[in-house]
Amino acid sequence: MNPERYSRQILFSGIGKEGQQRLAESHAVIIGCGALGAMHAEMLARAGVGRLRLIDRDFIEESNLHRQIMFEERDVADRLPKAVAAAARVGRINSQVEVEAVVKDVNYSNVEELIREVDVVLDGTDNFEARFLINDAAVKSGKPWVYGAAVGSYGAQMTIRPRVTPCLRCVFPEMPAPGTSPTCDTAGVILPIIAAIAAHQVAEALKILTRQFEKLHGSLLQFDLWQNTSTRLRLRDRPEDCPSCRQGRYDFLTARGGQFVTTLCGRDAVQISPSTAVQVDFAELAERMRDAGEVSYNRFMLKFKSGGREITVFPDARCIIKGTDDPNVARSIYARYIGA
Ligand SMILES: [Zn+2]
Repeated sequence: MNPERYSRQILFSGIGKEGQQRLAESHAVIIGCGALGAMHAEMLARAGVGRLRLIDRDFIEESNLHRQIMFEERDVADRLPKAVAAAARVGRINSQVEVEAVVKDVNYSNVEELIREVDVVLDGTDNFEARFLINDAAVKSGKPWVYGAAVGSYGAQMTIRPRVTPCLRCVFPEMPAPGTSPTCDTAGVILPIIAAIAAHQVAEALKILTRQFEKLHGSLLQFDLWQNTSTRLRLRDRPEDCPSCRQGRYDFLTARGGQFVTTLCGRDAVQISPSTAVQVDFAELAERMRDAGEVSYNRFMLKFKSGGREITVFPDARCIIKGTDDPNVARSIYARYIGA
């Protein structure tokens, strides 16, 4: 650790020399490296957190650039996965950081493994299903995690210390029904709210990593940068009936079998992940698809275009199907071109 590099941060009484050393010895995982997650990665790398695991299932598109500060036009042209591009940028920002890019869909079968060795989990996801999954895995393993969400000009943030503070299910007992909450798809989003929420999340993560739990804000923070409103709901009690942190019932870690189908926020697209581990041979798949449309691939993904539809296939057989938001249509396209 180079003390000169971090001198202004060490000078800050909340961090100091001891805090800086702790950061250097810390390991953080960021789940989702889009708008929020890319900011977490950038800020934690600059702060000198020793190890970062960046997880994202997605690749960079032009429509991400207005809000996903780590990515550039070149990354869109190169069709890079977000985790890979973010890790490369972390390497350029701070070569002392040990960074790992994981291009995967986080689901019940892998979430516990992905957070096992880390000191804190940062939420960079864009949907409640992923957050309930993270909550269950984090509560089960006793890992602190930092929730954050932004849509439109509104954002929310809270920090969970399992069995010490209320967890996500203490505050939101049930997942909102599909179609009932605004998403980037329906309401859009502006960068300032992402920056504000990410700033709160990273400050909370720094407090956790330097073990200053008494400095955590202990609230559900909500604010709207366009309506100029903010609320702070103090969180104290954990309801006795919380399935996760009271009763130890981790509903979201249970196998549900079959494919995982997700409608993607911000695009007319559906993602399908197989439930079993598969390794796709792109050369072979491209050969099979050649007559049905236009096909190209690099080592990260295969792209297939036909009749106004576009399918992106990843090495683990996960697909993103563009041109529909109907899971059933997507399943059928998947079955037709990829095989169930
Ligand atoms: Zn709870």
